[in-house]
Amino acid sequence: MTKFIIITGGVMSGLGKGVVTSSLGKLLKSKGFSVSAIKIDPYLNCDAGTMNPFEHGEVFVLKDGTEVDLDLGNYERFLDTELQGIDNITTGKVYRSVIEKERAGEYLGKTVQIIPHITDEINRRIWEVADDTGVDIVLIEMGGTVGDIESMPFLEASRQLHMEVGEEKNNSLFIHTTLIPVLEVVGEQKTKPTQHSVKALREIGIEPDIIVGRSENKLEKSTKQKISLFCDVPEEAVISSPNADSIYRVPLILDDEGLTERVMERLDLDELLEEKEDTSIDPSHKMENWKNFLHGFENPTSEIDIALVGKYCDLEDAYVSHEQALNHCRAKTKTKINIEYVESEELEEENGPEELLGDVDGILIPGGFGDRGTEGKINAINYARVNELPILAICLGFQLSVVEFARNVLGYKEAHSFEFDEDTPDPVIDLLPKQRGIDKMGGTMRLGAENILVEEGTLAHNIYGKTEISERHRHRYEVNLDYKEEMESNGMKFSGYSLNEKRMEILEIEDHPFFIGSQFHPEFQSKSMKPAPLFLAFVNTILGQKEDPSDED
Ligand code: GLN
Repeated sequence: MTKFIIITGGVMSGLGKGVVTSSLGKLLKSKGFSVSAIKIDPYLNCDAGTMNPFEHGEVFVLKDGTEVDLDLGNYERFLDTELQGIDNITTGKVYRSVIEKERAGEYLGKTVQIIPHITDEINRRIWEVADDTGVDIVLIEMGGTVGDIESMPFLEASRQLHMEVGEEKNNSLFIHTTLIPVLEVVGEQKTKPTQHSVKALREIGIEPDIIVGRSENKLEKSTKQKISLFCDVPEEAVISSPNADSIYRVPLILDDEGLTERVMERLDLDELLEEKEDTSIDPSHKMENWKNFLHGFENPTSEIDIALVGKYCDLEDAYVSHEQALNHCRAKTKTKINIEYVESEELEEENGPEELLGDVDGILIPGGFGDRGTEGKINAINYARVNELPILAICLGFQLSVVEFARNVLGYKEAHSFEFDEDTPDPVIDLLPKQRGIDKMGGTMRLGAENILVEEGTLAHNIYGKTEISERHRHRYEVNLDYKEEMESNGMKFSGYSLNEKRMEILEIEDHPFFIGSQFHPEFQSKSMKPAPLFLAFVNTILGQKEDPSDED
């Protein structure tokens, strides 16, 4: 029997509910339980694929190709697991299924309503995850804030789920994450917003079992007592979640605060552990290893500067998987990695590349869409190639590396990607044949993990140490094979390609300390304790150059 933990948010968004969910998952895994996580997004989009990163942060891609909310990336990285499309439930997905069923006549004769039809469909989807994975515990993170119109059907569904699995049988519990602000003039932690948001939960029949209070500092004893009294939870069930230096410290903080103990007790998890046949704990889930990881992360012995050349640099969450992949490298190599966000458009100014990239140790070009800033990215790539600066160019970065090479090495001055110039005489990057004729935008790109062959004797092979790898994709355009031979005979090697050898996946420049481009997104598979190989090799090359200054020029 699967147990459910439902995590809601109160007062305002952006409180780090996702980090609380991931951390709790981590802690439960360290005790020997199998855990999966569901993110509920109460928006009408069927998936996050069509959302602008400015609006919603990065779009994360799962192994099966589903485009999802970035929180699922955090779950995968923390829990060292691979999730599936069914783990992201959106209002769009739910309504679409119900409306399709209605059109198919499955509710014949009935008035189709939010309760019970929408709520049943939500719970059907939650059970689908429980049944499919067979895990001990499913964590359900409710997006949005309690009180929003959008999240009402999901809260109602979770209330029903709680009833269904048996309240008295300790099979589900509610954790409410809320904000405890401090009023500067009086310096006192204020609990009123929390009281109101718990009241809103109660009005819909949900009694939180645990309250996690996000605050600048730890909650005072008196604050906990007050929350306990007004929100009707035991004092030990009020957990502090103060600001932390890094998200990786949060599992330890919450554990110290008694969250694991409380959840274990409330869900009778000791009993479940006794019943379990296999209680072996994978080393990657042991807290000892997490502490080692954190120690590496918090005690750097060297420092490097990397320019991330993007176009959504103002929004913190737009490149979260890249940042996290670099954080994983930081812990592994004990290197403080300073990320300098460079707006690609600024590199289109005269002397822009020299001024903005002159002092960095390496350049990272993430993926992207749309024309804005592409010339600036090409300038950054040119700067890295000519000045032998280590560069990792991902997806659009990979494609623009081909464009830069065609223009400046092969001399095809007007070469471009067909995405940005349909009239170019040299479309060195062209539309994937399967993409021709597709006019719908949602979920229609080449998406998800595919196997890739890596050629022996290349830098890529050196990095991966094997001839076949699997990485995740999200793109519509690819290298035009008509130019491949000429590129290769001029120094750009395609060292990784699809199994049928028709799609170029990795490129490298032979006479360069580290020039790697990948059509796939290595950042999506980087895990806390297992950094993505391309990122790690990129960082290690820079470190090697720093240690041996004679290499630098
Ligand atoms: N816009 C490019 C394409 O669709 C690159 C996509 C990306 O960087 N994710 O192929």
